[in-house]
Amino acid sequence: MRILVTGGAGFIGSHLIDRLMEQGHEVVCVDNFFTGTKRNLIKWFGNPYFELIRHDITEPIRVEADQIYHLACPASPVHYQYNPVKTIKTNVMGTLNMLGLAKRVKARFLLASTSEVYGDPNVHPQTEDYRGNVNPIGIRSCYDEGKRVAETLAFDYHRQNGVDIRVARIFNTYGPRMLEHDGRVVSNFVVQALQGIPLTVYGDGSQTRSFCYVSDLVEGLMRLMNGDFIGPVNLGNPGEYTILELAEKIQQMVNPDAEIQYKPLPQDDPKQRQPDITKAKTYLNWEPTVPLEEGLKLTIADFSQRILEEQSKQQ
Ligand code: NAD
Ligand code: UDP
Ligand code: UDP
Repeated sequence: MRILVTGGAGFIGSHLIDRLMEQGHEVVCVDNFFTGTKRNLIKWFGNPYFELIRHDITEPIRVEADQIYHLACPASPVHYQYNPVKTIKTNVMGTLNMLGLAKRVKARFLLASTSEVYGDPNVHPQTEDYRGNVNPIGIRSCYDEGKRVAETLAFDYHRQNGVDIRVARIFNTYGPRMLEHDGRVVSNFVVQALQGIPLTVYGDGSQTRSFCYVSDLVEGLMRLMNGDFIGPVNLGNPGEYTILELAEKIQQMVNPDAEIQYKPLPQDDPKQRQPDITKAKTYLNWEPTVPLEEGLKLTIADFSQRILEEQSKQQ
């Protein structure tokens, strides 16, 4: 099959492309390199089944494909808040263009949506029928509301034009290749612990998140794409931790001497988040298999290697 992956130079997209290439598919990656890098895909350069197109999906593009994994969108608060209007354009105009493309070429279209559609949730754990508690005018809205519109577009193209869609609501995912300075909690804590500087816990650290290792997530996306269930479906690891627990875990694993420093809690920061994955289990026969400690070990190893490489380059 020929498979288009938007945002394929990013963290999740590049792991997905590795799997698709290993399965023998032809892969076309479209990315503007805002938060993605060619380095993530370098091993496929020169492979005749791989094509990389530098393109911003807010502009139309004509590509032929059987399946489209639509992942293009900055995912960390630091990056999506850097240019919020651009984030909305990517979610709205970008998703519209990719749905228009899916309609034209009759491709199956999978949207990488997010647990952020639930906002600061009043229902815990979050089930797919919960409609969310999102602030429409806050600093996270460009991303949260952008993804909500992207879901609406997907379902309207499905109902109106018969586009074959799949919608995944992805919960916090971590693993190798996360950007060192993208501001997400796992990358921040790991880099801080490795550099021997204090781990920055925002607020009192009592807010919770549930962390899914990237290989589990990619497996879930592929099962969704290749099954009959349209979604929306939660994909995430139900293991829930407070941010302080996560800080202490990484501190123990990397550097027990690292200090913890408390910083102000960002505006609209969700207090708790945990996926109900009953639907994923039932319809996709999927559940995560990598425990947090094991995933963190692999992530820490990747970050320490990259930091060492950078240090040796500077010398
Ligand atoms: P990422 O920032 O590493 O990857 C996003 C990719 O999209 C990057 O390569 C970036 O350059 C590209 N991109 C951004 N805007 C673009 C545009 N206008 N045109 C073309 N390319 C563009 O993020 P990620 O963590 O790999 O996330 C991938 C997808 O999964 C995103 O849609 C994100 O919203 C979703 N998601 C991720 C998480 C998570 O925890 N990582 C959680 C929920 C949802
Ligand atoms: N589009 C695209 N590539 C394609 C087909 C469509 O980028 O191969 C864009 C197209 O330019 C439009 C959007 O997708 O902006 C929606 O397309 P659709 O055909 O649904 O709407 P229309 O073009 O009729 O407004
Ligand atoms: N967080 C933190 N210290 C950091 C980065 C993040 O305490 O250095 C907190 C943040 O306030 C949030 C949680 O960790 O409560 C997860 O943040 P992240 O940006 O990774 O993801 P999201 O908030 O989008 O779930």
